[in-house]
Amino acid sequence: SLFQGLQFLTTVNDLKALPADGMEVAFAGRSNAGKSSAINTLANHTRLAFVSKTPGRTQHINYFKFGNANNRLVDLPGYGYAEVPVSVRQHWEKLLSQYLVRRTNLIGLVLIMDSRRPLTDLDRQMLDWFRPTGKPIHCILTKCDKLNRQDQIAILRKVEAEFADESMITVQLFSSSKKLGADITEKVVGGWFDA
Ligand code: GDP
Repeated sequence: SLFQGLQFLTTVNDLKALPADGMEVAFAGRSNAGKSSAINTLANHTRLAFVSKTPGRTQHINYFKFGNANNRLVDLPGYGYAEVPVSVRQHWEKLLSQYLVRRTNLIGLVLIMDSRRPLTDLDRQMLDWFRPTGKPIHCILTKCDKLNRQDQIAILRKVEAEFADESMITVQLFSSSKKLGADITEKVVGGWFDA
């Protein structure tokens, strides 16, 4: 299956250093949203992506390689960490927006959000940058184990309703601690590579 063979490839700090060929999917999210945990869960691996004790520390683009061909997963730096200096934050915002808008190898965006507070201003900013590309966006509402079943369904319906008119945007619940939702992610992202 798609994520099982995921391997760390390289870390880059500069968009000029990105590989020229192949296809990639990007994972983005607020720092501490649960992105690294989700990548580890999808890969069925505990230490593949670095789960940070200090939010906002990972300011690099981490590249992972899927088992086959030239397909890659790109772990974008977490955004929204208040204690990052403004100059650093502005640098990364520029890098993220340029990457999302211009990167032709990018075939889809996975947006990781904490299911207890999805669609913050910065999440919407990411969506606004990426939407004009017309490429698909998959929203993962993670840490859903922290909500009861009723609240899980309510938040899922609420986020789905926001994108009711946008067929390129899909939404799912996920939990890294309970290992829930990986099958859905696999199907959606696998579909992008197969399209
Ligand atoms: P990142 O900064 O987005 O990569 O977030 P991390 O994956 O490092 O997770 C941030 C914190 O949330 C860590 O303390 C994780 O253990 C916790 N966490 C991540 N995913 C889940 C989840 O699905 N359920 C629960 N209960 N906690 C989670």
